[in-house]
Amino acid sequence: MTRYRLLVILMTLAASALNAQTLTWQPQHVGQGSPVLFTLTLDRPATRVTATWLGKELGFFPANDRRTWYALAGADVEQEAGSYPLSVSGSYSGGTPWAATSPVQVDIANFHSNTLSVAKAFIAPSPAAQRQMERDAAAKKRAFASSASQPLWSGSFAAPVASRIFDNFGDNRIFNGKKVSIHRGSDFPARPGTPVHALNAGRVVLAQRMFLEGNCVIIDHGNQLFSIYMHFSRLQVKAGEMVKKGQLLGLSGATGRVTGPHLHVSLRWSGENLSPAALLAMQLPETYAGEPKER
Ligand SMILES: [Zn+2]
Repeated sequence: MTRYRLLVILMTLAASALNAQTLTWQPQHVGQGSPVLFTLTLDRPATRVTATWLGKELGFFPANDRRTWYALAGADVEQEAGSYPLSVSGSYSGGTPWAATSPVQVDIANFHSNTLSVAKAFIAPSPAAQRQMERDAAAKKRAFASSASQPLWSGSFAAPVASRIFDNFGDNRIFNGKKVSIHRGSDFPARPGTPVHALNAGRVVLAQRMFLEGNCVIIDHGNQLFSIYMHFSRLQVKAGEMVKKGQLLGLSGATGRVTGPHLHVSLRWSGENLSPAALLAMQLPETYAGEPKER
């Protein structure tokens, strides 16, 4: 379970007593591809918390008491194992600034190799397909370019379909005898026509047909966290739409680069590819997303 780790106070104002800040996180062991919920507990309310880890800005947001702050982040599937300092600073109500740092270890994850056979059109795409993939890449870049500055999600994430998830996040994909990629997502077996639901609340930032992804939906959950769903037979949402946790996004299918009908889900935080299966296993706090800000 969660173990408390004391932060080293690097800076305090002259003559002020040491102010205790504790940083905890789950899961306790952070592996390659792990999403991480950081929880910062302060001895008094803060007006502002900013932090960086792995060279990325963490989106810390407060609980109602403003003494507990959360940030949902993660380590990329290809992040080199090692110890990475998390630097955090902020201001207490009244203006007193503080700063601290804490090492966060990223461990090696053991991923599998997976040999697949897919249609040749996907291994040696035609010039037309290549142009389509360039347009798709531009559309995805636009979709990921901006994210809400507060969490749109609230509480734990929910499975998109009822079926058991495949443990294939991080697999090395060997297509027709050649290693082409790492599997940057988790797959769910799903018969064509299975209703697919949003993992959590957010805003649809892409809902369209693409070459590899097939019919695809991308949801912005705020603070640079996105969930991506692929291979739908039919889409039921449009870009720009706000969705609730569990809302129907479309029907599963076998569009795009697939070996058969299934639902592929990816999770992306600040460009890092995280394990959807690991996120679904986490207990997450309510964020009061959508409630009017009173402060
Ligand atoms: Zn997949």
